[in-house]
Order: sequence, then structure tokens, then C-alpha cells
Amino acid sequence: MTNKTAFITGASRGIGRACALALAEARARVVVAARAVDKLEELAASMRANGHEVYVAELDVSSPDSIKAAFTKATSEFGRIDILVNNAGITRDGLALRMKKDDWDAVLNTNLGGAFFSIQQVLQGMLRAHWGRIINIASVVGEMGNPGQANYAAAKAGLIGLTKSLALELSSRNVTVNAVAPGFVETDMTAGLSQELKDNMLAHIPLRRFGKAEDVAAAVRFLASDEASYITGHVLDVNGGLYM
Ligand code: NAP
Repeated sequence: MTNKTAFITGASRGIGRACALALAEARARVVVAARAVDKLEELAASMRANGHEVYVAELDVSSPDSIKAAFTKATSEFGRIDILVNNAGITRDGLALRMKKDDWDAVLNTNLGGAFFSIQQVLQGMLRAHWGRIINIASVVGEMGNPGQANYAAAKAGLIGLTKSLALELSSRNVTVNAVAPGFVETDMTAGLSQELKDNMLAHIPLRRFGKAEDVAAAVRFLASDEASYITGHVLDVNGGLYM
């Protein structure tokens, strides 16, 4: 990925951080973006110490204005964005009967709107270059549903529809659009779940372990590579066999 620039949203921790490290190891220049700039600066410093080229972008994907500002700044620094990883995401779980509008809006705006408006920022450059990789981090929940996560499942299923539609729109210009759908991955997002829930989930995972952020990052790295040039509109499950 030499001479390619990758922009990763939600890179301050978890899966996004692992994606930034994996893409940098594959020799891409990386833009690490999120709200917690202090964490991004820490990550960037350790990556630079290993010889990687890293740029920090403050970004709130729930705000189209913040998205525009972050991408404008990043492209003025590096030129075109070649690889976009839409990873930033949140949960605001609750049963539908009692779900507040704020919890619906926050999850849809961040997880789905954030991806769409970020894609809009990189499209022109990718179309002109006749090369681009867009990778959306969906979820197994977007494929199979989950009680208590109507907002999250709707956003993630929406990301899969977005992925397939844009794969069709952009294919003639050699821009591929794919999704990675992780199962249960050990990060801050899942750290707060009860032991009972975790035990129950583990019993349903054929590979009998939870995923690591690096498992997801490896799939992202592959989809971003030249080796994946004939793959578009695909949803790559990284879920230990939980859903197939
Ligand atoms: P995480 O550890 O909670 O990290 C979430 C990341 O998203 C953080 O870097 C956070 O950064 C960023 N983020 C959240 N809201 C943002 C906003 N408004 N603007 C910009 N960045 C924002 O979660 P994770 O497990 O790594 O999840 C990463 C992605 O994988 C998410 O899309 C999630 O839905 C998906 N996923 C996770 C699992 C799992 O089991 N962990 C399973 C399936 C799918 P700041 O707080 O610094 O902004």
C-alpha cells in the first residue's frame, strides 16, 4: 500500500486502532480520526516511532460539518484519500418500547450517517483516480438482528445496503466497496456486558472464543489491498462462525 493514504474513523481505540496499525504495517500512510484527540496523538506518536507516516484528525462523525472539516484538512495534508475505513460506531441499547428518540438518532447518525457523509468526502478523489477502497464496519447484528439493539441493528443493516448500492455505483471506476461484519469482539464496546451474557454468547460461537480487534483488522487490510481488487459489494463475516 505504498503511496496510498488510508483514513480510519474511530481510530482512537478498539477495532479502528487495530485497523490503523495493520494498514500502516502494510505501508499505507494513515489518517487516524476520532473525537479523543489525546488518544490519537498517543497512538500517532508510537506509530511514528516505528517509522510510520500518521496524521491526526479530530472528527465527530455525527456532525456532517465536522466530517467536512476533517476530510478537507486531511486531503490538504496528503492529497487524495485512497482507502476509507468507516469504523466509528456507538451503541445505545434498549427495548424498542422504551427507546428514546435521542438513542435512535444518535446511533443512526453516528453509525450510518457518519459513514455516508464520510464517503461523500472521498468520492470525487477516488473517481478521478480510478482507484479506491471503501470498507464499512457493519456487524453480525445487522445480519441476524438482536433484541435490545433495534437502532444498532438497523444502522448496521443500513450499512450493508449502502455498501451494495455504492459498489454498483462506483464499480465502473475501479472503486470497491465492501463491508466487514464482526461478531463479538473484545473491546470497550463489549467490556460492560454481563458475564452471563458473555457466557451465553460464547456457547453459540463455533470457534469457542471471542474475536480480537486484530482479527477484524486483518480482514480490513485484505479488502484494502490489491489482492482484493475483484471483490466488491461483499460482506465479510469475522464472527467465529456465529452466523453463516
Ligand atoms: P469502541 O472500542 O467503543 O471504539 C469505538 C470507536 O469509535 C472509538 O475510537 C471512538 O472514538 C469512535 N467513535 C464513537 N463515536 C464517534 C463519533 N461520533 N465520531 C468519531 N468517532 C467516534 O468500539 P469497537 O468495538 O472498536 O467498534 C468499532 C466498530 O466495530 C463499531 O462500528 C462497532 O459497531 C463495530 N463492531 C464492534 C463489535 C464488537 O463486538 N466490539 C462487533 C461488531 C461490530 P472517540 O470516542 O474517541 O470519538
